[in-house]
Amino acid sequence: MTDTPFGTLPNDVKNAIESLDWDGVVVHYEEIGLKGHNRTPFVRALKRNMDRAVKDLGVDVRSEWDRLVLRCPSEKIKSVLEKGSRVFGVAYLAPIRFLQKDREELATAAVSYYKALAPCGSSFAVRVRRVDKTFPLTSQELERFIGARVVQETSAPVRLNDPDITISFRVYENCVYLLGPRVPGPGGLPVGTMGKVLTLFSGGIDSPVAAWLIMKRGCFTDLVHFHSFPDPQPVRSSKIPSVADALFQPQGLSARLFLVPYYPFQMALLSSPAPPHLELTLFRRFMVRVASRLADEYGHQALVTGDNLGQVASQTLENLVVTEEASPLPILRPLLTYDKNEIMTLAQRIGTYHLSTQKYKDCCSLLSRHPETKANLRAVQSAESALPLEKALDQCLSEMVIWTVGIAPPSKEELQTQVEDATTPANASATEAQS
Ligand code: ATP
Ligand code: MG
Repeated sequence: MTDTPFGTLPNDVKNAIESLDWDGVVVHYEEIGLKGHNRTPFVRALKRNMDRAVKDLGVDVRSEWDRLVLRCPSEKIKSVLEKGSRVFGVAYLAPIRFLQKDREELATAAVSYYKALAPCGSSFAVRVRRVDKTFPLTSQELERFIGARVVQETSAPVRLNDPDITISFRVYENCVYLLGPRVPGPGGLPVGTMGKVLTLFSGGIDSPVAAWLIMKRGCFTDLVHFHSFPDPQPVRSSKIPSVADALFQPQGLSARLFLVPYYPFQMALLSSPAPPHLELTLFRRFMVRVASRLADEYGHQALVTGDNLGQVASQTLENLVVTEEASPLPILRPLLTYDKNEIMTLAQRIGTYHLSTQKYKDCCSLLSRHPETKANLRAVQSAESALPLEKALDQCLSEMVIWTVGIAPPSKEELQTQVEDATTPANASATEAQS
């Protein structure tokens, strides 16, 4: 089976979809189901995110007891599965057909399902789950009845362990679902259920993957990017907004991209040079200070970076600790323990790799190429005290612009519900107008 959570449907699903009539798609979740009495907000967030992810397909999304049901005509099933299988919180999806609670109808549907999907001689098994226990036949009795009909009409061999084709039914109170092949989702938790963070977003491969992983665990994230241009316009046609779009669009979300100029920091360095081997550490501390100010204003609870232990000289444990010391907020590092190969594979699967590898002038490349590997906090603080960093920080914030990335900007009401407990500052929409 191909990697379906990231958009490509396996062939058996494609064949099944093309050869049969469906009424919609069922979406099942796992971790959300474990949340007991707290599950309502999780399911609500999943429904809201799913609604937005499939909005352009005009699909009706309903929340049933333990699942979402997306009603749509057969010709839209493929697109719904593709889009739905990227939404965080989804364990798996499957095309469904609604059937009457009548065993003859179920047997007929099973026969056509087998004939449509199975090459001649394929083994099969029927699986029935009775959610409605009042149905007159037990699951096993129903499986036997339907299985016997398939054998009678197709001479197909039954194989209960590892069959070529599984014909699945679920018996609910009002109807029975015939389920097509499962398409795995990405798992995780619906975005917006675990608070709000701010990701330091570079022009590299790692930070988009870090943002993806933190969203997968239910955090809503905005992005802050430090650019090396005198004004932000060159960023507009660069890979930066495209990578951001690739992260948020599949979730049906929009986010803020804060664009902060790097040059005030550079001016501070020029006005009072610091030891070149400390420049990068000083800049990392500067970035987290700027980001923390933004976080304070926009209600982010933590910062996120694509840091990775030992990947480059600036990412030793000592240097990470010295950077952390400058941040009043916790810094989350989802990639800390990943190998670079693992990060690149993930970037390819989520669809950011080919964008991230496009050329771009990132500001870290302007700093000394031989950074200290074991920065000493006192030495760093002493170098900092000689620099006009407060002034640079204020200048960065006053020249910063904010763009919206992801799906088209939501209405004010939508923005308010985007994060369950987000606090939108009063001046947010005024600042956005600068973009
Ligand atoms: P790669 O390692 O693939 O070049 P990266 O995004 O990890 O990309 P690094 O130079 O390793 O880049 O930087 C470590 C982290 O510091 C980044 O993941 C990112 O969180 C943050 N960072 C670096 N440069 C910037 C920048 N220009 N703007 C915002 N954050 C940045
Ligand atoms: Mg990196």
